[in-house]
Amino acid sequence: EGKRILNVNGAFTEITGYTEEEVVGKPVMMFASQRHAESVFEAIWDEVGRSNIWQGELIGNRKDGSEMYEHVIFMKLLDDGNTHYVTVFSDISERVHYEQKLHHMANHDSLTGLFNRSEILNRIDHAVTLSDRSGKSLAVVFIDLDNFKVINDSLGHDVGDRLLIEVAKLLSRTVRHSDTLGRLGGDEFVILLESLAYEGEELGLLEKLMKIFELPVTVDGRNFAVAASFGVVYYPVSDSSDCNAECLIRKADLAMYRAKELGKNRVAYYNSELEEKIQSQMLVKDQLSNAISNGELNLYLQPKVVLSDGSVHGAEALLKWRRNGREIPPSLFIAIAEEDDLIKKIDRWVLQETIRLCNAMRREGYGDISVAMNVSGRTFSDLQAVTEMLDTIEKSGAARQIEFEITERVLIENLVFASDIIQKIKGAGVRLSLDDFGTGYSSFSYLSRMPFDAIKIDRSFISALHEPKQKVLVEAMIAFSEKLGMHVIAEGIETREQLLWLRDQKCDLGQGLLFSEALPFEGFLKVLGTFRYEG
Ligand code: C2E
Ligand code: MG
Ligand code: MG
Repeated sequence: EGKRILNVNGAFTEITGYTEEEVVGKPVMMFASQRHAESVFEAIWDEVGRSNIWQGELIGNRKDGSEMYEHVIFMKLLDDGNTHYVTVFSDISERVHYEQKLHHMANHDSLTGLFNRSEILNRIDHAVTLSDRSGKSLAVVFIDLDNFKVINDSLGHDVGDRLLIEVAKLLSRTVRHSDTLGRLGGDEFVILLESLAYEGEELGLLEKLMKIFELPVTVDGRNFAVAASFGVVYYPVSDSSDCNAECLIRKADLAMYRAKELGKNRVAYYNSELEEKIQSQMLVKDQLSNAISNGELNLYLQPKVVLSDGSVHGAEALLKWRRNGREIPPSLFIAIAEEDDLIKKIDRWVLQETIRLCNAMRREGYGDISVAMNVSGRTFSDLQAVTEMLDTIEKSGAARQIEFEITERVLIENLVFASDIIQKIKGAGVRLSLDDFGTGYSSFSYLSRMPFDAIKIDRSFISALHEPKQKVLVEAMIAFSEKLGMHVIAEGIETREQLLWLRDQKCDLGQGLLFSEALPFEGFLKVLGTFRYEG
């Protein structure tokens, strides 16, 4: 409209930067920001014409070209039959910016600047509604870094945080404009891909995302090899009619978990079998957590035999779970228990039982027979849990009979603080052996600094002894242990041939079905009293 400026005050000049001379006679609309549609002003002037006043918030231009948020009142005055307008406005930019910042903080992750969990959930829910209407699929991608925990634990949270920031940058550079990227927390990221033309359209992006991690990520000039596992779920989901954002993220998480199981650094897709698998795992977890109080667990003893003369050197305690007359092997339930702290509860029970067996053994006159219990990774990496176990052992007076076995994998995963914990264990007079040796890629030089009492050569090497290369490896392991003054135990000896060869190599101890499976205490006692395994 052709409204022109008649008069402005000093405050006007202060706010806008224009002097009176510069604006008098000019159209009022010169201050209207291009950011508002014309229809906005039409509606405003309509309102002023009807009710003589309008007030609200608008964006205006300053002389220097910058924009400001203003609270504006337009009033119509009738003066001697002429219509005049008075505009009163104040600059509220600061308040608006503050509010925007609050809004941003509520929706964004403060570390990486990506959307946070609640905003990602909102956006997925919104996308689900749109997809229901349009019939177009969407995909939710769950990303979890494969080795973040190690970096974070070993180099500190500061480095970990900066690594996450770098990864967030790489991810946001790779996703398309229409994709929504957020961080759920920790090293977990989510990408929402909307309006897929077809299921599979996301493959190109996934490929690019995987490529990111082929190169090391640089933090403070240091390079880190980071890999990631990806889980993908489509909406609509084949096996559930309504699945909201929480549900989609959970399913994408399941698929990601599957990718980890398959060996990490890869993509896995959600399907209903995953759901069933998880359900059965949850069932096992549930039953297992009651197994202790129901008296379903038993600790059996497998003899560790001196290979040169067939006498019993000690025992390994192995867990047996008997439920409704069926025996469930540890290979089925230990991994499930290790997913959360249930395994710690089991480890505590195993320790009590081990102590009980040691005491019983002493009463029978076999106080020099050691009993080795398997200690899980979760317990081993928890200093407090280890301390509690050692306290219990000290009170029991059975310390010199007890041995811990930790697997090489657990050692490697906890390299940074392993030596402190090992010192503590050794300091309490408890023996320690390295289980499943040869499967976990630890270096000989590293091992030489660890005060293990024994290494246990993994069964896979013994069962492959017919291959010349395996023989060389086993010879090396035996020589290495001997040089460092450690016992060496061959696991899983099943044939006489294996035994004779190992004996020739001066392997001092062995375990396996050739001698005996794991036995209940009474059976083990019988073996101790009457038996020498013949060579
Ligand atoms: P491990 O500590 O390496 O135990 C040796 C496994 O090899 C046992 O399997 C044993 O029964 C089996 N074995 C022994 N001799 C032979 C043989 O000659 N041939 C064959 N084929 N197998 C043999 P099991 O009892 O199924 O235990 C599997 C794994 O579960 C154990 O491997 C250990 O890592 C874990 N585990 C067992 N009991 C416990 C426990 O009380 N606590 C914890 N945290 N883990 C346990
Ligand atoms: Mg073991
Ligand atoms: Mg083993």
